[in-house]
Amino acid sequence: MNRQRMLQQLTATSEWDICIIGGGATGLGTALDAASRGYKTLLLEQHDFAKGTSSRSTKLVHGGVRYLQQGNIKLVLEALRERGLLLKNAPHLAHNQQFVVPNYKWWEKPFYGIGLKIYDKMAGRLGLGPSRLLSKEEILELAPTLDPEDLRGGVLYHDGQFDDARLAISIAQTAATHGAALLNYFPVKALLKMQQKVYGVWAIDTLSGKEYEIRSKVVINATGVFTDQIMKMDDPAHERMISPSQGIHIVVDEEFLPGKTAIMIPRTDDGRVLFAVPWHNKIVLGTTDTPVDTIHEEPVPLQEEIDFIIRHIGRYLSRDPQKKDIKSMFAGLRPLVKGNQKTTAALSRDHLISVSETGLISITGGKWTTYRKMAEDVVNIAISKSGLPEKKCITYDMMLYGHDKPLPAFSIEGMSDETLNNCIKMAVTEEMCMTVEDFLSRRTRQLLLDARVAKEAARKTAEYMAVHLQQPDEWINEQVSIFNTLANQYLPI
Ligand SMILES: Cc1cc2nc3c(=O)[nH]c(=O)nc-3n(C[C@H](O)[C@H](O)[C@H](O)COP(=O)(O)OP(=O)(O)OC[C@H]3O[C@@H](n4cnc5c(N)ncnc54)[C@H](O)[C@@H]3O)c2cc1C
Repeated sequence: MNRQRMLQQLTATSEWDICIIGGGATGLGTALDAASRGYKTLLLEQHDFAKGTSSRSTKLVHGGVRYLQQGNIKLVLEALRERGLLLKNAPHLAHNQQFVVPNYKWWEKPFYGIGLKIYDKMAGRLGLGPSRLLSKEEILELAPTLDPEDLRGGVLYHDGQFDDARLAISIAQTAATHGAALLNYFPVKALLKMQQKVYGVWAIDTLSGKEYEIRSKVVINATGVFTDQIMKMDDPAHERMISPSQGIHIVVDEEFLPGKTAIMIPRTDDGRVLFAVPWHNKIVLGTTDTPVDTIHEEPVPLQEEIDFIIRHIGRYLSRDPQKKDIKSMFAGLRPLVKGNQKTTAALSRDHLISVSETGLISITGGKWTTYRKMAEDVVNIAISKSGLPEKKCITYDMMLYGHDKPLPAFSIEGMSDETLNNCIKMAVTEEMCMTVEDFLSRRTRQLLLDARVAKEAARKTAEYMAVHLQQPDEWINEQVSIFNTLANQYLPI
């Protein structure tokens, strides 16, 4: 996956079959689905791949125990099937994760025990292992830092865990192997229209400043919380349908939860789900659900959200995390759909697909776990609405790029200069890594794992990148300054 080659492919193609706006889980999955069916596929991302919500998840591949509580059986069945497929198709980036639900009240053990047995059964042959009841001693053996006071025991169950931004790159690389062109730093600024029909997009390569008019038989809007902005380009009278909701995570050292077992608190006293999950030798704590009015590319955790997580997780751990223990924190925006009468809901599961009168197809909602099914659904709709020749989806058991290669580096802590330089070279030449942020936040996960370590590494990273990208000294200084300003937002004040 090389940007120069992608640009050549762009200029050599007079008309695409499918052009996708947005390079998060949904857009990348759609590009892979479309390209692997044999359609001429282009994806344009305004920033870096997975810069948006798709690098800021809780990193769980899950059926959604919460949806089960709400009785949404169909949704859970679909997500459990996709969970199983993802673990099979991306074994290098997703794995079986053991969770415990601690019980402090007498009714919790039978209640969650039965619920999780149903969850197991629903997964069928794609199940990850049986759930079982735990005594107090057994749960403390698995999660020794759980607060033992009033602890009655717990329930053990299995879900999946993954690396979201690395999976995004792996999907992009798989799509490229199937002939898709994918470009980051390429925002769509307008839709091309003739006789009230969308026939392409107008986009800018922000790295060169060059503008492009791109023709495509179908345009798919997969821009997450930015969905309304593209729909407004299509119809200036479009009424907002996305209500963004922010979720934050705090990352602390593994001493707060040593071992490989994660904790799931199904219901805090104000009714939320809380997780403490081991991830790349750190612990991710989260999340929150805060409605927000404005959409930022780089949302910032609110003080009340940080306090909420620290306060609530502290109730379940024998040692409460403090502000000074925070290694990093990150916020993401959920694109919750309000609904809008003007759009045609062609399909509504957890995700919503709409087709406008001009032919623009928009897909939003869903979750990372179900990205493959969402992509299959939206490409099926694209085929039926555009008259493209029908071809079957083939991603069901498609192994994703990298499954047979050495694992990528998730952290650069303690890395030798030579290894760092090699990682950077590979990220630049094969993964379209264009900035220091791309490398430290999404090609590796250093910014999310420990923002201070990431800041310390920024200059060296910029210097090595400048060699591989043939950038001047001013670029190095500019990149370091931009990155340090960003990294400060990942640390508490
Ligand atoms: C706090 C939180 C925790 C979550 N945890 C989980 C989890 O554990 N498991 C799970 O399965 N799901 C989880 N999810 C849900 C999951 O992360 C999202 O469903 C998924 O990432 C959405 O992907 P997307 O591609 O639709 O949106 P995004 O990732 O936001 O991608 C949209 C992309 O469109 C680009 N874009 C916007 N406008 C333009 C334009 N004009 N031109 C070009 N590009 C443009 C943006 O830059 C962005 O990269 C979580 C979500 C949140 C918020």
